[in-house]
Amino acid sequence: MSSDKKLPYDPIVRYERRLENVICEPITEFDGKLAATVEKMFDTMYAYHGVGLAAPQLGNFVCLNVIDFPQHDFRRVLINPEILEEKGETVEREGCLSIPGKNVQAPVRRNKTITYTYQDVNGTRHEETIDGWKARCVQHEVDHLKGIFFINRVSPLWKDLVLNRYQNFCKGMKEVDN
Ligand SMILES: [Zn+2]
Repeated sequence: MSSDKKLPYDPIVRYERRLENVICEPITEFDGKLAATVEKMFDTMYAYHGVGLAAPQLGNFVCLNVIDFPQHDFRRVLINPEILEEKGETVEREGCLSIPGKNVQAPVRRNKTITYTYQDVNGTRHEETIDGWKARCVQHEVDHLKGIFFINRVSPLWKDLVLNRYQNFCKGMKEVDN
């Protein structure tokens, strides 16, 4: 670790088996508290150098994601997102802030193009069709709201490999702490 200083942000909840299939609650109140939560999520995501973050990754089990993928000019606050249509297939390597470690990415098969709907921070509903990395990112994020991690979408061999490397990383962190 480069530094011991504590981030002024919520720590990201790491993957555990018991978090699989945990379904998030829809958001119904579009108020200042929600706006503050969204800001905090962006701050946390940037602090961890991620391009997407789901509320359950901060232990808040509600249907909310933030995305900022500058290479693809794609910044979104997704509230109660829902995928309506999916087309095509593509395989690319993915990782996740909840599964840190060395070489913990794995090839994940996803739909190439999706049409999805979401509400923004004011509660306004939007619908759009996206493809490529944008579509991959949204699918990864929407999965988080259903307790699905990318390792739940790879072969058993890849899952074992990623989990081994992840567990080694967590063990290493503990030794550093002690
Ligand atoms: Zn993730």
